[in-house]
Amino acid sequence: MAVFQRKFSAAVLACLLLCGCTTPERAAQLAAKSETEKKTEYQQAVQAQPARSQALETFLAAAEQLEAMGITGQEERLLLTKLGERELSQLAAGQIPEHLDLLALPHAWPERMERYLALLAKYPDLSLQEVVTWVNTGLDTPFYTDEELVEEPENLRVLANKYHALPEDYVPQLVDMDDRYTAAKGAQLQPMANLAFMRMADAAARDGIRLFNVSAYRSYAIQEIIYNNYVAASGQAYADTYSARPGHSEHQTGLALDVNTASELDGFENTKTYAWLQEHCADYGFILRYPQGKTSITGYAFEPWHYRYLGVEEAKACQASGLTYDQYVASQPVKGPYAPPAVYVGSRAPKELSDAALAVDGVSYVPASLLAQAMDWSWAQGSGMELVISGQDIRIQLLSDSLLLVNGIPAVLDQPVFLLDGEIMVPVEAMAKVIGMECSQAANGTLYLSGQVSAFPVTLGL
Ligand SMILES: [Zn+2]
Repeated sequence: MAVFQRKFSAAVLACLLLCGCTTPERAAQLAAKSETEKKTEYQQAVQAQPARSQALETFLAAAEQLEAMGITGQEERLLLTKLGERELSQLAAGQIPEHLDLLALPHAWPERMERYLALLAKYPDLSLQEVVTWVNTGLDTPFYTDEELVEEPENLRVLANKYHALPEDYVPQLVDMDDRYTAAKGAQLQPMANLAFMRMADAAARDGIRLFNVSAYRSYAIQEIIYNNYVAASGQAYADTYSARPGHSEHQTGLALDVNTASELDGFENTKTYAWLQEHCADYGFILRYPQGKTSITGYAFEPWHYRYLGVEEAKACQASGLTYDQYVASQPVKGPYAPPAVYVGSRAPKELSDAALAVDGVSYVPASLLAQAMDWSWAQGSGMELVISGQDIRIQLLSDSLLLVNGIPAVLDQPVFLLDGEIMVPVEAMAKVIGMECSQAANGTLYLSGQVSAFPVTLGL
């Protein structure tokens, strides 16, 4: 990373001061100032630039090391977020932290490293990718151990299985199914799932196939009765292969239903109806939840009749992955503390920039290019840190890592910008401050950048 020049020649300075955007007020303001005043203002801004923190220096040196190793883009940003201080320092010093290849997988969670390594030691033929997915699914421990209570059961992507339990008191929003679509009177589903099933059944009917529900939403209490009856009849070990323990049934989500049958004796997998469902269910947002040959993963025997509503996009992605939903979820990039900061930019239809955002030392950054695009501004990045962003009422020119000219007026960012993988990353809140936009943070940490740009920087930071 090149050290940025903090000194500018008088000629460059004079040029920079002349090339700002000129509104009538700005022109008047500039005209009112003497050359000496302008120079003083500029020199003060140069002096006021903050130095890079040691943490940022280490972070950038580590990033450079990763880029040299070919780890770039979103993978690089995600990995940098997952690395602790020790690993960042190691990388900055040119050493490769242990098991970096494992941690670099987007779905690898730092706190599960020991479990990954233990499974890898046991099954050395598995790929790192498989090891991480297996452990994330929970499969390195027996079913119904290390159970996690689902935190957002109302989320459409909710996962209920033998490692993830729904809260006992969780009741989703439900609607009664139309009698034409169910053989079970009073059956209920979540509204979206209900609508999607009706659409799917109507489409099937046009192809001469009849689809109807036999079992949809089941409450925790009902599942408890069902499960206990099966245990009494055939013992817990056998009951566990086909019936969910209360809290673990997907039927409690209101997003799953059994179509046409729920009995192995019917040979449903050999019917034209089943073939139709395999071809079309994802088009309506459903997936086959317990496929054939996946019992060791799902914990259930093949259920050709059990479908789960996920929404079209997710259902198609899951189906295309060839994974069960349990593994599909386990193969998604890490979230929570390692997720990129959520950032939205724009007033009318805010654009989400989270995928490209990054937090360093508690400060959220986004690529300057994406920030400009979200604001419908043009931008031009030269080599290194040369950058000009311009829109209808604004022209921002980057002079150093924290000194800007905003419509010709020098302004200082509270945190410096930096170059990551060829992209200039700008601190969201500090940038909002100098261009006079509103930046608010929701309780969940999401940043919203909105409002009108002021033609003049609000704070010079002097
Ligand atoms: Zn079912």
